[in-house]
Amino acid sequence: MLRNRRSVSDQTMKRPSLNRFRRIVVKVGSSLLIDSEAGEVRSSWLSALAADIAKLHREGREVLIVSSGSIALGRSRLKLPRGPLKLEESQGAAAVGQIALARIWSEVLGDYGIRAGQILVTLQDTEERRRYLNARSTIAKLLDWRAVPVINENDTVATNEIRYGDNDRLAARVATMASADLLILLSDIDGLYDAPPASNPNAKLISVVESISAEIEAMAGDAGSELSRGGMRTKIEAAKIATTGGTHMLIASGKIEHPLQAIADGGRCTWFLTPANPITARKRWIAGSLEPKGTLTIDAGAVAALRAGKSLLPAGVIRIDGQFARGDAVIVRGPDTHEIGRGLIAYDAEDADKIKGRSSPDVMTILGISGRAEMIHRDDLVVGPAGVIPAK
Ligand code: GLU
Repeated sequence: MLRNRRSVSDQTMKRPSLNRFRRIVVKVGSSLLIDSEAGEVRSSWLSALAADIAKLHREGREVLIVSSGSIALGRSRLKLPRGPLKLEESQGAAAVGQIALARIWSEVLGDYGIRAGQILVTLQDTEERRRYLNARSTIAKLLDWRAVPVINENDTVATNEIRYGDNDRLAARVATMASADLLILLSDIDGLYDAPPASNPNAKLISVVESISAEIEAMAGDAGSELSRGGMRTKIEAAKIATTGGTHMLIASGKIEHPLQAIADGGRCTWFLTPANPITARKRWIAGSLEPKGTLTIDAGAVAALRAGKSLLPAGVIRIDGQFARGDAVIVRGPDTHEIGRGLIAYDAEDADKIKGRSSPDVMTILGISGRAEMIHRDDLVVGPAGVIPAK
């Protein structure tokens, strides 16, 4: 059945342990969360999942949840008839469902003493760099506070043209945006099979995928095939986004109680491995793939600070050149015009010019808002000649 075995591996040796991951995104699908008959949240299953999440959290890991269910829950609470919904109906159903969903997450995590923080994102929030920086820093702050971000697409304003529509790809973008090292897709199937499992009794679960080859893509089935009904296509798309961004991904069944504990105990699932890590993948993206829109010249003190791993503050900037928007890539040069590195800037060119050379308290007075303390945050900065990526 498998012609090319290089891209897959059944060796359990290669299967990583959950213990090695520090920032984990868990995606929970609507069919797991909402009982299709009763139209209500499956609360005992959800409490068991919350117990698993609380365990990871207690172990010092950071957990983010991407939760579907707003449309399904809203639809049942509004007692809408079965069948396809019109755009404004699904937007309205999401409005009713999301408020309930947020409350449920807040309560189940609250039972374990964990604060939940809701973040609703649109496609543009994850694709446009200016907005991407906003979502990224909100997530970072919540994690800093040891809160658990609970994220969904903002289905109340998303239209068909500008939406993900599926939370698999959304979760993968969130995972790379948050520099998570693992994405877990809890699904109604326990992983990727080399043939449709419902019709082929010899179908085998692939336990480790080392690279997403054409053969792996073919296993996801064509649109309308048996496997793709379970959304395996979007899961493979999610795996591509995640692994390119340096995030490992796994698909596991969420149909059992304590699904995360089952993974930790070595239960069945499919791992998609990446040779990269989120930090190097992101730094490679900043240094190599983005066209710089401007240049900042900084003083010797700032050069030393950057080389010591610090962020670039407005006070160290001498000169601004170019027209750039918040979130654009810029080149950073030392006083002798030598390139020090590249980064994503937190201010547009006009504001950056106004606050250059000024101390952080002045920034508030000059701009009339309390902006970001850093001109370029160290996570958004690659120090070294262009194309040279530091190991960590
Ligand atoms: N964002 C949608 C919702 O919450 C779900 C999308 C999906 O099921 O993947 O209803």
